[in-house]
Amino acid sequence: IIETSEIKKTYVMGAEEVKALKSVSIEINKGEYVAFMGPSGSGKSTLMNIIGCLDTPTAGTYILNNKDVSDMSENELAEIRNKEIGFVFQTFNLLPRATCLENVALPLIYAGYNKSDREDKAFMALKSVGLEDRVNHKPNELSGGQRQRVAIARALVNDPSIILADEPTGNLDTKTSYDIMSLFHELHQKGNTIIMVTHEDDIAHYAHRIVRLRDGLVETDEINPNPTTNNFQAITE
Ligand code: ATP
Ligand code: MG
Repeated sequence: IIETSEIKKTYVMGAEEVKALKSVSIEINKGEYVAFMGPSGSGKSTLMNIIGCLDTPTAGTYILNNKDVSDMSENELAEIRNKEIGFVFQTFNLLPRATCLENVALPLIYAGYNKSDREDKAFMALKSVGLEDRVNHKPNELSGGQRQRVAIARALVNDPSIILADEPTGNLDTKTSYDIMSLFHELHQKGNTIIMVTHEDDIAHYAHRIVRLRDGLVETDEINPNPTTNNFQAITE
């Protein structure tokens, strides 16, 4: 469903050019669970943004669900961003003045749900990340890890088929990281496509395929023959 061919992304900043992606060709099928790894600045977030239709490549083609993204109308793109893809950003992007429940319910406004359905769904999503007792808190009243979980709940609330998570466990303690991985494992079992960026080997090991980027290129792209599955409770409790 995801197919990039020879994608390049060059950021121009005044006289300077940054070649964030030099030529990336990658195919990800429905239901795959993939980890992107690689050093800081290697282009992981840039690639995630393009895959999530938040940014467009400077050159090359990106085919999503058999359709060239550059041929899609703004409406089609908005529809995909709102219904098809759940995005967890590296920087959370939560609204500071809104409560957790309101933050999580936000994507449902665009999807056309009424208020009580939005609140029910947002509550269920917060419950799935273990924050049912924080629904009326504002982001600055939460720990970093809890904010990260709100961002994940928001990404999941629309039941998107593709989940893109940029460092989903980046700010979390070990136990919470495992809980998030447990959640991703369930989503993968339900047939969702998951792509996550991580710096941590033990987190990447939950994925069934590991793609390493370096200097804007794919360095390695390997199947993980023996992904970590579950039962962290046994380890952590
Ligand atoms: P990290 O692990 O630190 O998050 P990354 O692999 O996600 O790194 P990117 O954010 O994709 O890296 O950045 C790749 C390169 O592109 C970097 O050199 C970065 O400075 C540059 N870059 C990223 N976004 C922009 C932007 N909006 N404008 C200009 N340059 C950018
Ligand atoms: Mg990044």
